[in-house]
Amino acid sequence: MDVRSNEPFWLIKNSLPQSYPSLKNDISSEVLIIGAGITGALMAYKLINEEKKVVMVDRRDVCNGSTAASTSMLQYEIDVPLHKLIEQVGLTCAVSSYQNCEKAITDLKKIIKEIKADCGFQEKYSVYFASSKNDISFLKDEFEARKNHGFKVKWLTKDEVEKLGLKAYAAIESKSGAVMDVYKLANALLEYCAAKGLEIYDRTEIEKIKSKHEKLIAETKNGFNIEIHDVVHCTGYESTETVGENIVELKSTFALASEAFDKIPKGFIKRIYWNTDAPYLYFRSTDDGRIVMGGGDREFKNAARRDALLPKKEKELVKSFKKCFPNIPFTLDYSWAGTFGETKDSLPYFGKPDPKKNEHYILGFGGNGITFSVMGMDAIVHSINKTPHPYLEYYKFNR
Ligand SMILES: Cc1cc2nc3c(=O)[nH]c(=O)nc-3n(C[C@H](O)[C@H](O)[C@H](O)COP(=O)(O)OP(=O)(O)OC[C@H]3O[C@@H](n4cnc5c(N)ncnc54)[C@H](O)[C@@H]3O)c2cc1C
Repeated sequence: MDVRSNEPFWLIKNSLPQSYPSLKNDISSEVLIIGAGITGALMAYKLINEEKKVVMVDRRDVCNGSTAASTSMLQYEIDVPLHKLIEQVGLTCAVSSYQNCEKAITDLKKIIKEIKADCGFQEKYSVYFASSKNDISFLKDEFEARKNHGFKVKWLTKDEVEKLGLKAYAAIESKSGAVMDVYKLANALLEYCAAKGLEIYDRTEIEKIKSKHEKLIAETKNGFNIEIHDVVHCTGYESTETVGENIVELKSTFALASEAFDKIPKGFIKRIYWNTDAPYLYFRSTDDGRIVMGGGDREFKNAARRDALLPKKEKELVKSFKKCFPNIPFTLDYSWAGTFGETKDSLPYFGKPDPKKNEHYILGFGGNGITFSVMGMDAIVHSINKTPHPYLEYYKFNR
């Protein structure tokens, strides 16, 4: 599957910081990570710190899947609002999921500091706003649910949001948000892990995995074998190739980056935004003074149809921006399209689809893909070590 259109902003901005060789002989190791996006990079970081011997492969250049297209907003807020998630999955799982995402942002901040990644990480307030009058009571219910379960939230009235340059009816402001450049972070993590012994092979596709006694043999498209004890699939939305399409609904999504402003508009200095529309719109600034926005999701049919929609979606999204922020002159500079997936409960899948096989997955589907990947790396270490972890229960396959 082609998971994104050509030329997302981050790829143009950063080009290809690192390139790795392809695999040209048979090898063996303890763990194979398939996929060198942000999920694979975080998994590698975790396993290398656990002193495992790890090899990683990617069918493309590293970080060139969805990770290159991501708008990289970090939120504890999951696509399904807390009060609705409680109805869907129960109080404990719903509240823990919001707490786990909040913790994931703090964990990621520590990792970025430790590896000294220059990836534009900045903490921000997250503003969830009502785009219509009818959504105010829904937003109030969400505010009460979050407040009652200990999240630090503030109610903003119409007049208060207007002071931020935003035309909306009310909003919930939360402390725990952040932005970064995930393409840069994933590349930095790979470089850090490679220096600590991670073997990376790009342009190396895994076609088949077979069991042999206690081991697994992963066969590459070019006919080489990798013998390992465990495989971690960090293959993003392309995981549907191996786990099937039943667990996720694939969507096409669209993103824009404006020209750089001389001065970032005031409302964007400390805040990121998303709204109550379905599909929702979201907005952030970048450290080079642009505004990045996204939304306009549609059912995914195929990559060609997704990309053909881009000119129409550009117009739609710019119009939506002007409606939300009427006094900010948004001049379009870059646009791109990507595929992403939604699960029924908006939560990720971690662990083994088949308990008998040592094949583990981190599937951080949904708008919180990056925070879910941070959570997944801890869970998968327990899955490999065959020790229990709450995430392996909450986010298990066949739930
Ligand atoms: C437009 C857009 C905006 C987004 N915005 C946000 C956001 O603001 N915040 C957020 O948290 N998330 C966001 N997401 C989601 C987020 O980008 C993804 O969750 C994340 O990038 C997934 O990373 P990954 O490493 O799992 O997948 P990928 O980056 O797709 O990496 C998977 C890798 O696996 C490789 N691969 C697949 N199959 C094989 C195989 N058989 N053999 C070898 N290699 C293989 C691929 O080549 C690929 O490089 C957004 C996504 C899109 C498309």
